[in-house]
Amino acid sequence: MTSLSASAIREILEEKSRLRELLSSQLSESEKKSAERDYHAKRPPRPCGITVHTAIGCVYQCRYCYIYDMGFKIEVKPYPLRGLQLAYALLSNKYFIPGSRGTYLAIGSISEPFHPAVVNKTLEYIEAFYRYLNNPVQFSTKAYLSSQVCEKLANISSKRISPLVTVVSLSESASLEPYAPKPEKRFETIRNLREAGLKPFLFLRPVIPGLTEKEYEEIIDLAVEHGAIGVVAGTLRVTRRILSELREAGLDVSVINRRLKIPVEKMRSNVQYDVYTSDIKSQVANYARRKGLVFFPSACMANLYTHNTSCWKMVHMNVELSVKPREVDFEVVESIVKQLGGEASKVIFNRGELLVYTSSKVDSRLISEVLRSYFLACVRVTRSKGNGGRLE
Ligand code: SF4
Repeated sequence: MTSLSASAIREILEEKSRLRELLSSQLSESEKKSAERDYHAKRPPRPCGITVHTAIGCVYQCRYCYIYDMGFKIEVKPYPLRGLQLAYALLSNKYFIPGSRGTYLAIGSISEPFHPAVVNKTLEYIEAFYRYLNNPVQFSTKAYLSSQVCEKLANISSKRISPLVTVVSLSESASLEPYAPKPEKRFETIRNLREAGLKPFLFLRPVIPGLTEKEYEEIIDLAVEHGAIGVVAGTLRVTRRILSELREAGLDVSVINRRLKIPVEKMRSNVQYDVYTSDIKSQVANYARRKGLVFFPSACMANLYTHNTSCWKMVHMNVELSVKPREVDFEVVESIVKQLGGEASKVIFNRGELLVYTSSKVDSRLISEVLRSYFLACVRVTRSKGNGGRLE
């Protein structure tokens, strides 16, 4: 087992260094230096992958958006790196794993990647990712994507890229998303993506209590009509500022406040708080499935889905695709942790989630990412006092 995990880790490192050399030969010294200093070369992935920025800032000013609390401005600028540099930056990131089971890439979390000012940059990045890295790539958008752009996306990704098209509300879109393209244009985007041979998902995010319940059926019906193949629903996260924006937009925020874990008065400024929406998401899931759509509670599953891959959580949802997750063997888990300098004191695998307790000081984010990629399971690595090395 040790040799199996050792060779898996060696293969990852060799492939990563081969690709890095390849890109290094195509970049100037100063281009390499700026890529190595870049955010994408440092940031550890979250369980859903690394968010890739093709732009900085956003002009759409959606009133539920948290990027303005994070310091981003109401402007849109293309990200300064070239596509090759961005791929090189990722390969310089110690946590990044290249390849089809590697780190998931998500574009569009802090900007609109298909705003006219940055659409070419986004396409350039996506092309570089599929040409050199081959990782699963996903984007989320509120833009109108023409047939030509959709065809280009299909070509450069061999029809694998995962598109999420965001529609939050029909009746309140003008007040909640005053500068974003209208929902009708986004449904046209869904149609164009599907006609180009891609698999667009409706991104119902954020689910806004008090509003989504009234509208999700109509939104899903329209998504079906325009060719969406699935739905991903996402949680609302609020700050004090977002709550007052929503109030100003005319929403009854008391419904939201009741779903927060702490009283509004105790919310700290600039901190994002999750709003409980699981019950609404269940209703959305049931309706989407009744309409013949696939439903996923998280975006990364839709990313894997269009790349014909299923993780353990998807298997538990009866979604099994050509690339399947590996059987979770605790000896291999133990061995991978050991190869990465730690010791597993307890391992639990339950409903697609792998929990690893280590008794030593380790780089838990690196271990998580290697285990996630190897087994295609959600992984949490936690430091514990241990229980005598017993595995469960
Ligand atoms: S389009 Fe996205 S990034 Fe831009 S303001 Fe709206 S939610 Fe924020």
